[in-house]
Amino acid sequence: MPFDQRVTSAPPPSGTSPPAPRTSSRDPRPGLSGLSPAELAGWFDEHGEPRYRVRQVSDALWRAMAGSADELRTLPSPLRYELERDFRLDTMSSTDLRLGDGSQTEKALHTLSDGALVESVLMHYPARPGRRERHTLCISSQAGCAVGCPFCATGELGFTRDLEAAEMLDQVRHAARRLGASGKRLTNVVFMGMGEPLLNLDLVLAAIQALSDPERFGLGARHITVSTSGVVPGMQRLTALGPQFTLAVSLHAARDPLRDVLVPLNRRWPVAEVVAAARDHARATGRRISYEVTMISGVNDTDADARAMADLLRGDHAHVNLIPMNPVAHTPWEASPMPVIEGFAGVLRGAGIATTVRRNRGQEIGAACGQLAAERGAQPTAPVVLRRRERLLAESAAALRGERDRRPLAAGVGD
Ligand code: SF4
Repeated sequence: MPFDQRVTSAPPPSGTSPPAPRTSSRDPRPGLSGLSPAELAGWFDEHGEPRYRVRQVSDALWRAMAGSADELRTLPSPLRYELERDFRLDTMSSTDLRLGDGSQTEKALHTLSDGALVESVLMHYPARPGRRERHTLCISSQAGCAVGCPFCATGELGFTRDLEAAEMLDQVRHAARRLGASGKRLTNVVFMGMGEPLLNLDLVLAAIQALSDPERFGLGARHITVSTSGVVPGMQRLTALGPQFTLAVSLHAARDPLRDVLVPLNRRWPVAEVVAAARDHARATGRRISYEVTMISGVNDTDADARAMADLLRGDHAHVNLIPMNPVAHTPWEASPMPVIEGFAGVLRGAGIATTVRRNRGQEIGAACGQLAAERGAQPTAPVVLRRRERLLAESAAALRGERDRRPLAAGVGD
């Protein structure tokens, strides 16, 4: 069956979620969409098939968004069988879809062959004066995440594994297929879902190559954004590669003691190093850096934080997005009130920094990164949640009072 998919318009009532899928061994067949044209040509050569078969498969994968061998209709059936024996046509075993915001936000929870869960979110933006309609897909680059940002449901899940290029690309093909059914095209892809893309950089770059290749997905590089929480060596590597796409940095705080709490990777690469690497990228590529700030009430939205951010970014080729924190289970925090966010934006704009206040999408369907996967996972016990909340409150309060010492990051993250 092509693209196994179920659609709901709201979360299941509490306590009725299907059980967490059991982790099983991974399907050893590579995902077909992750193959480069040269790899695909090599396979057809080995099987004594003419080279035009590459074009036929590529058209099926990237124009028709085929999800099963049955859909490779231009190939003789024995060849379809051989391809399916060696490759997975779709790396998603199943996909649950939730619709929110009057169907303007579609959140997909994908189950991979080994039971790992990843999420993608498709957001529709209607046309408005001076701007065409857009359809932006946020995809995951890892199952879980090792960075452990405490306001993020994925961070709480921990790290499971890197995604293959095909597992990233099939998130895109699923969304493109849904859009194609109503005559629409995906206009933007952002690597801002589960995982830290620069900790899986080789495979993220392979996926970007397929997305931007005119012979495959054919999306202009300017319409692709890669986000990082501040993996400086990865940022430097991207700078050396030249202008490939837009770089977004999850900043969240301009002061190290607070950013250490909100983005634990900051203990390895402090904020000044992250911003210096972003500046180098902007200088080398001519591309404006996008900084993302999740606004958390009473934690990183104070006047002092706004002034520190204005001082840090003043004069940079940068754009700041302020995003109210999504409600996430097990954190002691909540979103900053909108007037506070507007005040914060005013301080940044006053320093000449382009700033946009974003609204949350799909709150009723758990659209924030990792929320659906967390619902399916084992829930921590009440004492564990309480201890976590108390620790976060104590650490963020100490950072606010300027009493927090900087500690080195535990081994294992970003190695
Ligand atoms: S916010 Fe991003 S980097 Fe931080 S834990 Fe979540 S997925 Fe990982």
